[in-house]
Amino acid sequence: MDPFEMYITQADLLPPIPIPRRKKRLKQLQLELELELERDGVSVSETERSLVDQEWFHGVLPREEVVRLLRADGDYLVRETTRNHARQLVLSVCWGQHKHFIVQTTPEGHYRFEGAAFPSVAELIAWQRASGVPVTARSGALLRRAVPRETWELNNDHVQLLDKIGRGNFGDVYKARLKTTGQEVAVKTCRVALPEEQKRTFLQEGRILKQYQHPNIVRLIGIAVQKQPIMIVMELVSGGSLLTFLRTRASNLSSRSLLAMCRDAAGGMRYLESKNCIHRDLAARNCLVGDDNIVKISDFGMSREEEEYIVSGGMKQIPIKWTAPEALNFGKYTSLCDVWSYGVLMWEIFSKGDTPYAGMSNSRAREKIDNGFRMPAPEGCSEDVYALMLRCWEYEPDKRPHFHQIYTIIDTIYNR
Ligand code: ADP
Repeated sequence: MDPFEMYITQADLLPPIPIPRRKKRLKQLQLELELELERDGVSVSETERSLVDQEWFHGVLPREEVVRLLRADGDYLVRETTRNHARQLVLSVCWGQHKHFIVQTTPEGHYRFEGAAFPSVAELIAWQRASGVPVTARSGALLRRAVPRETWELNNDHVQLLDKIGRGNFGDVYKARLKTTGQEVAVKTCRVALPEEQKRTFLQEGRILKQYQHPNIVRLIGIAVQKQPIMIVMELVSGGSLLTFLRTRASNLSSRSLLAMCRDAAGGMRYLESKNCIHRDLAARNCLVGDDNIVKISDFGMSREEEEYIVSGGMKQIPIKWTAPEALNFGKYTSLCDVWSYGVLMWEIFSKGDTPYAGMSNSRAREKIDNGFRMPAPEGCSEDVYALMLRCWEYEPDKRPHFHQIYTIIDTIYNR
């Protein structure tokens, strides 16, 4: 069992109190709570609001995030999790370490930990805080500061889905409107039926994107995890997928415009490289095109924030034709692997959306590359641009240019 997850077992509960005494004690505690709340100027009816309205309710926020939010002893929040298909509410508290307590339900449908039971979770938490009683005697954990949702934790009810605009790995992608600001956004949804583990992976993209702010990286607006389906809310990039754009709308784009697109992508990748982020799935299908044909790097589902990332185990979902030999052969990923993929992306841009190594199977392409084969220059691609592609496809990663160099080279060619 994960050392962070602490469940209340029967042994954790207080020794059973005979029912009549327990009822009396309960009444007494509820009375005490009402008095306490009145003293604090809070009317009891306020605690009746639904859970979703509570600022300390974080929905299905993954545990990694929760742990990051709880910093000082007594910091707490409530979240939701699913175990054996059953929805459970969990009170997470920082008390020496991070402790997670499952909210217990009584046969009458009331909520409790070890102490008093209440008709709503909001009342239970209010009492737990006001009474100064530890959540469990064994943990000694006290509630001192409710940790509110952060601005990027959006309320699902504030996201109005409009049209379906794409299909992602985890679920459909929609154009949507944020009711709070009227802003049009793109929303990635995660299929409700997917296992918890996959939902966590889905949210990983939001977690990575949250830290980045760059014109050539798709911007995260927030995640909505209060209810199913969980969503990642991003800026809406008007032209959609770069690959589709290249195939359908790029026929009369000049080489200079195509080069500008390569420069945009290099700008985004230079930024990621500086943040030690390895994308691992750079390809035209994972870039978006916005107004004035600006290219934005998207789809961070496979990305990692590490200087070097070693994959162990199966490599089932690897985009072979975009992946550097050292990643395919040894599972070793660095930004220089992204540089290899970037060379393929440049090739896709200049060939206006052709499939790389056309007519070759993945294994054939891989074999040919190991034997020194490289794709020829796409039609209309200048020599200096092709020379850069070839440098990105150097077999030895150390011989490839870094993204800051690539950006400078392209910028120089562009301004000539
Ligand atoms: P997944 O990462 O699950 O594979 P993608 O990121 O590839 O999902 O998104 C699927 C499709 O949805 C894209 O090809 C694109 O057409 C559309 N899309 C995704 N994000 C946006 C966005 N921010 N703006 C506009 N369209 C988007």
